Amino acid sequence: MPTTIWINGEYKTRDEASVSVFDHGLLYGDGVFEGIRAYGGRIFRLSEHIDRLYSSAKSIWLDPGMPQADMRKMVEDAQAKSGIKDSYIRLVITRGTGDLGMDPRKCDKPTVFCIVDTIALWSKERYERGLTCITAATPISHKENLSPRVKSLNYLSHILAKIEGIAANVDEVIMLDSSGFVAEASGMNLFCARRGVVKTPPPYSGILRGVTRDAMIEMARDANYEVVEEPLNRYDLYSADEVFLTGTAAEIVAVTKLDGRVIGNGQSGPVVADLGRRFRALVTRGD
Ligand code: PMP
Repeated sequence: MPTTIWINGEYKTRDEASVSVFDHGLLYGDGVFEGIRAYGGRIFRLSEHIDRLYSSAKSIWLDPGMPQADMRKMVEDAQAKSGIKDSYIRLVITRGTGDLGMDPRKCDKPTVFCIVDTIALWSKERYERGLTCITAATPISHKENLSPRVKSLNYLSHILAKIEGIAANVDEVIMLDSSGFVAEASGMNLFCARRGVVKTPPPYSGILRGVTRDAMIEMARDANYEVVEEPLNRYDLYSADEVFLTGTAAEIVAVTKLDGRVIGNGQSGPVVADLGRRFRALVTRGD
């Protein structure tokens, strides 16, 4: 199936779709985005993604230029048009095309685009065996600077962390906040489990509040796990039975080695297996 792209009101092919070199999304990272998945043609938690997108936009003073309902409909139409049953959807709003100055008033309308494609972050073998990780030296940005709650086009600290992981020859990185608390992975939220208690950092600790994270918490509570949202240290991860990452693209995947230490017994564990099964059932139901 070819990639389907909607940009500023029109469908374009991969070769035709482009943005101006004067777009402030490109010149300044001035914009917001979402990553969304569809399963069997049904989009998972689209309203939650659109809500987060509009909250991100509002917090950076960016008017998307269309009501949420129209945005939702556009994404649903693009997904249906693509014919890709299990898709990954990237929805982006930038400040728009301006000039070389920073003044956002020069950008008369936002650039909006939606790409419907597919994504696979790791091989099946990585999902079965778990990922190797290091703690990155690059922290997430300070929560009173650009709040990590804003899913903005400024991903440089996460990309630098990712590059640190590549240089260290591991699969993924764990990022800390500027106080040294555990925050998230390069594009995923983080959990640990010990003796049946599931822990994850709270949104106020300076993380992106993942749609998948929230679904995992709900499912874990329904399954009678005790779920605690509290600030975590690296110690909590090193001493956990299981560490795992969640995100729209990644879904759920174990971390079995971190900073050279084996986590738990070194294998993707029962909590990941249980929540993974529940997650697949949830996305298939589509609620
Ligand atoms: N943290 C960061 C930095 C991310 O980019 C993502 C992916 N959007 C997540 C966490 C996970 O969020 P979600 O479950 O909504 O995809």
